[in-house]
Amino acid sequence: MKVKGTDFYWNPILETLPREKLKALQLKKFKRILKWGYDNSKLYRRIYDEAGFHPEDVKTWEDISKVPTIQKNDYLDAQAKEPWPYGDSLCVPLEKVTEYHQTSGTTGQPVYQPDTWQDWELLNEMWAYILYAQGFRNTDRVFIPFGYNVFIAYWQGHYACEKVGCEVVPGGILNTEERLLKIKELKATALMATPTYVLTMADACRTKLKMDPRDLGIKKILCAGEPGANVPTTKARMEEAWNAKVYDHVGGTECGGWSYECIYQPGGVHVNEALCLVELVDIETGEPIEEPNKPGKLIMTLFDRLAQPTIRFDSKDVSMWGEECECGRTFRVLKGGLHGRVDHITKVKGVLFSPVSVEEVVRGMPELGDEYELIVSKKGDADLLTLKVELAPGTGATPETVQPELARQLRLKTNLAYIIEFHEYGSLPRYEVKAKRFKDLRKK
Ligand SMILES: [Zn+2]
Repeated sequence: MKVKGTDFYWNPILETLPREKLKALQLKKFKRILKWGYDNSKLYRRIYDEAGFHPEDVKTWEDISKVPTIQKNDYLDAQAKEPWPYGDSLCVPLEKVTEYHQTSGTTGQPVYQPDTWQDWELLNEMWAYILYAQGFRNTDRVFIPFGYNVFIAYWQGHYACEKVGCEVVPGGILNTEERLLKIKELKATALMATPTYVLTMADACRTKLKMDPRDLGIKKILCAGEPGANVPTTKARMEEAWNAKVYDHVGGTECGGWSYECIYQPGGVHVNEALCLVELVDIETGEPIEEPNKPGKLIMTLFDRLAQPTIRFDSKDVSMWGEECECGRTFRVLKGGLHGRVDHITKVKGVLFSPVSVEEVVRGMPELGDEYELIVSKKGDADLLTLKVELAPGTGATPETVQPELARQLRLKTNLAYIIEFHEYGSLPRYEVKAKRFKDLRKK
């Protein structure tokens, strides 16, 4: 591993800090935010007191894993208390809050996320690391084909573009065709979107505008919001469709943009270890995992966000450590980005199953369109897996020619058999932001 020139990194000192110094910095910052949470948030104090834990119990790196984790429900319980709307998880006077966002609330009541001006600057700074590592510079004109609203998505992307010096074009209110025409008109060089929408836009460009998206001149695409950019076959589809480099990042409301793929595309995302602590722990036992290639769930801490701190938040996201990257960064790599959520990685017919592996197969077959739907249901006592796919237009393939190979690859990848349904091209749902292609009808 060789360190590159200083203009290669957004923060050349922190991103290349030797591991032992980085860990010392992380321990120092962890203790600081832990004390802040305990002293200022009734929520954290309640959780720690109930567990018989005190921040001063953390003296060494190993002690960090003894700190009780916080769950999404804890924030919701706190919000139900006074003062409205953030309840007793708020660590600063309400007058200091300048930003409101919320989680999508797909699993029920959303979590409200307050930020101070200082917090917000920090979150934008985190995103500047992402953009810079992916080659965004002041020569780029970045098109964002989304409207920003109560969700945190794309706001920081917008501000970080400004911070890095890019010219940013907000394409929110336009429809897909208008966005494509605007990209063409302005000769935009880069794009930020969900993997789903990257493919939807390419499809609309070809079928509705009769233009090849490769001719629009987009050089790089930053993906967010879904795991697709780290599914190799999906990434390949996007790069092929746009003739552009596609980079992943992982982030969220509670933790900001905490990770990024670099231009070396190491098959995963670097964790921003200067600004966060990301622990990988065994899903069953909670024991820390340090070795590569062993799946676990991620426990997240953000060091400097003060209004509503994130301290050992149980993200329920699954990943694994990967190998060192060639880019010279000492920040570790999470192989394959996010692999799914603990509650999505489920047992089907007694086999541990992750829907992302089905995506890998579908997107790896050129005879199939980009969209698919995967449904788990029950017939009597047996689990039933139904996969709905579309044939890609213009390949000459028929269900009869594609079905056997698709079934074979699915069995190879997941050890399971599927009922495969072929649907007319364009008939399966198209999504812009959070795709819902996996449905588990066994859970009520
Ligand atoms: Zn790298």
